Amino acid sequence: MTLFEKIIARDIPADIVFEDDQCLAFRDISPQAPVHILIIPKKAVARIGAAQAEDQSLLGHLLLTAADIARRENIAPDGYRLVINNGAHGGETVPHLHIHLLGGRPLVWPPG
Ligand code: 5GP
Repeated sequence: MTLFEKIIARDIPADIVFEDDQCLAFRDISPQAPVHILIIPKKAVARIGAAQAEDQSLLGHLLLTAADIARRENIAPDGYRLVINNGAHGGETVPHLHIHLLGGRPLVWPPG
């Protein structure tokens, strides 16, 4: 069981900001911006590169949920960033698909 599956199962505590039947969103334990939230599917999809055609509506739901949370966190007017790290070069450290929602400060581009 991955770390994020343990968070879904409430075996590991997390600061959960949103949950529905398909996804869970919680604050990152090591925030890189004033708002840093992870949006994850409850289904164990390892990474975006492992998603299948059958996951299309789930992936759309994750993105729309991220935008909803950004509005609720009051970072939408100033802007924010969504990030998905895939594989070693992408910086993925937890093999359970997650969208990073980052905001609350200006973010530089390109990323490191
Ligand atoms: P990745 O590097 O795979 O894109 O992102 C994994 C994220 O999970 C990192 O930003 C890291 O800080 C976060 N993280 C790792 N362990 C925990 C944990 O136990 N709880 C929470 N809330 N976040 C975690």
